[in-house]
Amino acid sequence: MQAVALIRKKRDGGVLDTDEINWLIEQYTQGGVPDYQMAAWLMAVCWRGMDARETRDLTMAMVHSGDELHVRDIVSPVIDKHSTGGVGDKVTLAVAPLAAACGIAVGKMTGRGLGHTGGTIDKLESVQGFRPELTREEFVRILKSEGVVLAGQSADLAPADGKMYALRDVTGTVESIPLIAASIMSKKLAIGCSHLLLDVKFGSGAFMKTVEKARELAQAMVDIGRLAGIHTVAALTSMEQPLGCAVGNALEMMEAIAILRGEGPEDVSALCYHDVAELLVMTGKAQTMDMAEQQVQQAIRSGAGLAKLAAVIAAQGGDARQVEQPHLLPQAPYKVMLTSPHTGYIAAINAEAIGLASMRLGAGRFRKGEPIDHRTGLVLQAKVGAYRQAGESLVEVHARSEAEARDLFENLLACYRWSDTPVQPGALIHEVIRP
Ligand code: URA
Repeated sequence: MQAVALIRKKRDGGVLDTDEINWLIEQYTQGGVPDYQMAAWLMAVCWRGMDARETRDLTMAMVHSGDELHVRDIVSPVIDKHSTGGVGDKVTLAVAPLAAACGIAVGKMTGRGLGHTGGTIDKLESVQGFRPELTREEFVRILKSEGVVLAGQSADLAPADGKMYALRDVTGTVESIPLIAASIMSKKLAIGCSHLLLDVKFGSGAFMKTVEKARELAQAMVDIGRLAGIHTVAALTSMEQPLGCAVGNALEMMEAIAILRGEGPEDVSALCYHDVAELLVMTGKAQTMDMAEQQVQQAIRSGAGLAKLAAVIAAQGGDARQVEQPHLLPQAPYKVMLTSPHTGYIAAINAEAIGLASMRLGAGRFRKGEPIDHRTGLVLQAKVGAYRQAGESLVEVHARSEAEARDLFENLLACYRWSDTPVQPGALIHEVIRP
């Protein structure tokens, strides 16, 4: 086989067969196909697309490019959850321990922040001593003993995706639904859970700016999951404004703890409780969503969800006291309040711009590998639909200096749109796609 023939075939709108896709991915992973040929093929896919069978074959070829964990052979059912990323998205920090407290094992590998969106590992690392890099043996031991493990993404799982993603990032080939679906699902299938819940975001702070595009991506991933024998459900959720109130690593950790105490902001708490209820129904641990939601509330009331978070953090080397007493988490030296210049209703809060503002405080990375400041970020004092009088609090800025906080005020004010008449925020959960 020749790479140039496969590039031409896709360029001209052809459909690659399974052997051709397997050959291309195997050769690329081993260095037999160079980056420039792979980049040309990826661009052809961006223009011509791939059908469902090609997308599944690409995903499976990427899965087989490296180690496979097969966690469902160790514990079953065992779930995984994935969010396509957003601003203030601390859902995994609450959902994973809450699901484990309700009797569902959670084996999850998770990433660092990407652009304006935060990463679960960065948030967990705001806890002193927390260690995301686990050996395979440690991953399995903690999964068995605690019923939940939250590890960093291993480079040995789906290495073809690691190489292809880096190439796509610099060749304008990220924005292709089959390529995104194969990239996300290859990492999930390599872990090998029995059930997978996907949270596909749409809106100003998300990868997918429209609900139609998010639906297309969600459906592609649900189809791959079904063909691979993993029970996969996808929720389409809004990222038109930041999720919850906290944006920034330790601040989001604190908010996740509040959610597990039943004291979190309404929107993000409702999403977390819904996700766990969905997982209980998916795994057959509850018959209906109503029954599942009662189990979730019981795990909140009894403190079992919070105790699980402390347990998994301790098992991975972290200081569990910081979960039990969140005021011990690292805090920025300056907290400066931005007040509202308007009297009226908040009509919109640009999630992407809020994420970028938090990055400027040091909470995210402008360049890969850059150190971050776990203490800094923003706490929104009011969300879309709220009424504010001029002079009332709008955003609490957690910064390394007062000047750094004040420098951001103008940018932050530009994130808001105002209305003189009442505004109804859109529903957070737009729809759920089941297999
Ligand atoms: N996240 C991934 O893991 N892969 C993509 O292609 C896009 C987002």
